[in-house]
Formats: sequence, structure tokens, C-alpha cells
Amino acid sequence: MTDLLELDRGELAQLIESLGQPAYRARQIWRQIYQRGVTDPGQMSDLPAELRRRLSADAEALAEPIELQTSADESTSKALLRLDDGELIETVLIRSEPRDTVCLSSQAGCAMGCVFCATGLQGLRRQLTTGEIMRQAILARSWSRDEGRELTHVVFMGMGEPLANYANVSEVIERLTHPDGFAMSPRRITVSTVGIPQNILRLASDHPHVNLAVSLHAPQQKLRRELVPVAGASVDDILDAVREHNRQTGGRVTFEYVLLRDVNDSRSHARRLAERIRGLRAHVNLIPLNPSPGVVGERPSRRATLGFQQALQDCGVPTTIRVEQGRDIAAACGQLRGDRLQESR
Ligand code: SAH
Ligand code: SF4
Repeated sequence: MTDLLELDRGELAQLIESLGQPAYRARQIWRQIYQRGVTDPGQMSDLPAELRRRLSADAEALAEPIELQTSADESTSKALLRLDDGELIETVLIRSEPRDTVCLSSQAGCAMGCVFCATGLQGLRRQLTTGEIMRQAILARSWSRDEGRELTHVVFMGMGEPLANYANVSEVIERLTHPDGFAMSPRRITVSTVGIPQNILRLASDHPHVNLAVSLHAPQQKLRRELVPVAGASVDDILDAVREHNRQTGGRVTFEYVLLRDVNDSRSHARRLAERIRGLRAHVNLIPLNPSPGVVGERPSRRATLGFQQALQDCGVPTTIRVEQGRDIAAACGQLRGDRLQESR
């Protein structure tokens, strides 16, 4: 069975050639899928009927959401998708004027075991294929388009660690930025990583204009190891890779820092963090913990969150607090799947 979404451009060209079709058909198919969102070959109206039949006989159905939730303020929608082998992943669409952002999952589960993350609880189930990741983007864009809006931004902040699925995530970025694909500017794509140094460097050379966000959560090694137990790299190694990313791309990195009450949320943590990242072109995005069943940690007080921000700013570090949307539908990393697993126990 051939799933067209699993083919890169070279493989699609080969398939078209093997069917005795002219080379430009590959481009037509690519545009149907990635520009118009038509994944059913039977609906690709600019292809000859015979080719449509031939491809349809082989086509796979698009993963359908088995549950779709929208937050009370309608700013966020979240779909739970069932993959062919029964794995469940989630995709989140965040509406904020004038842009819509999709939050993509890159793995089913995750190996890194961050103690506060519902996805981390599951362990790694498997890598997602390029087709499975692209389908999420196509689906989210179709929701946007149905509402007369446009999907303008992509973040790899759903389930999984994108840089632990580097080859597939890199191919997805190709398709999102290719003129015959989504034709998006790489500057509107953000890869969020727990910090895998060698793949931060690959990203810098393969996709220098894609934004890098590094989930640091702690300024010192010991505390970080408690929060991110499986991460192979030390804080030092991660910061070295970020320095090199800064140098190679000329860009700025975002450090994500999930604040946990009485764990990493004091002003002295903030000052130590500022010291550690001094000299880097960086910005810190504070994320007050979104507690969920089974995961460790409590939400920090508003006072502590603002105090942490102030302490960083006093040290000259540009700092924002993440605007939270869709908390009522558990739109943080991995939570919907966590809820369903609990129900089925
Ligand atoms: N694996 C990647 C990307 C997916 S997680 C990474 O860790 O960066 C995306 C972001 O959600 C990360 O910054 C992660 O720390 C954060 N996150 C995970 N669980 C959370 C929770 N319960 N509350 C708030 N943020 C959370
Ligand atoms: Fe994996 Fe990211 Fe969750 Fe950590 S926060 S367990 S790296 S998905």
C-alpha cells in the first residue's frame, strides 16, 4: 500500500515515473496535498481519471479525530487522533488574532520522562512518520480555512521530543517551507526541544531560520536532572550547543522554563539562570505549570511567577510569561491522552 503522505518529493517522482506518467504529475499531486489539503487522490481534479483510480486503489484514509474539544472561549481546539496501529496522539490549534498556530506532535509518547509532563509518563511508544506529522498540519489548516482564517505558524510543542525524531521532523519542515508545499516562512516555525546538542547543531545548519526553543527548566545540573531525568546532555553541553546555534544562525533562542511551586520558582533561581545564559542572544518564556493527574508539581503563585520575571528582567534578560489558552481543555503537552488513559483503566 502506498500512502502518498509518506513519500518525499524524490519518492513521489519515482512512483509517477513507474506508472508511466509525465514528471509534472508529481508536482500536481504535491500541490493538491500540501497546498489545497486534498489527501484523497480520487478528489485530485487536475489528474486524469485513470491515474486517480490507480492512486485511490492504494490510498489510506486520513486519521480522523476521535475526540475534538474546544475551550470555552473558543481560542483553542484540540484533536485526539487515532493512528493506524491504535496509537493516540494530539494536535492543538491555537487561535490568536491575527494568526493561527498549530501545535504538532512528533512522537507517540516521549522517552525523556520530564516529571511534570503527561506525555513523559507514557514513555516512548514510537516515532511518528512524516505523513503522520504532516496530516496534523493539514487537518489544523483545514479547520482554520473552514473558519475563514489562515494557519500562519507551526510549533513542535505537542507530544514527543522533535529532535529525537530528527530525520522525519526535518522532512516535515521541508514540506512546510517548500513553495509547492505549505510555502511557509521558516521564521514562522518553532522547534521546541529538551536539548539534544548534536541535533541542535544539525538544525542550525539544515534549517537556520527555523526558531529554536530549548526547555531548560533549571539553571543547575542537579535540579535539572530531577526534573528531566532521562536527558542525556548536561546543562553545560546544551548551552554550548545553543551558543553555536546563535553563532551559526545569527538568530535568538527562546528558553522555556516551566515554573513549579517551591521547586524552581525563586528569585535566586532566576538570578542563577540569568548568570548561566549571559552572553547568549536569548529570551526566556516562563510557563506556569499546568498540573495534571499523575504528574509531579504544583502551579506557582502569580506572585512568584511575576517575581521570577522581574528578577530576570533586572538582570537584563528579556522575559515573557506564556499566555495560556485552553487550560480548561487541558491543552498542555500530552494531557488529553493522559486523561483518556486514566478513564480506560
Ligand atoms: N519535547 C519538547 C516539546 C514538547 S513539550 C520539549 O520538551 O520542549 C512543549 C513544552 O511544554 C515544553 O517546554 C514542556 O516543558 C512544556 N510542558 C510539558 N508539560 C507541561 C505542563 N504540565 N505544564 C506546562 N508546561 C508543560
Ligand atoms: Fe518529552 Fe517534552 Fe514532555 Fe519532556 S516535556 S517528557 S521532553 S514531551
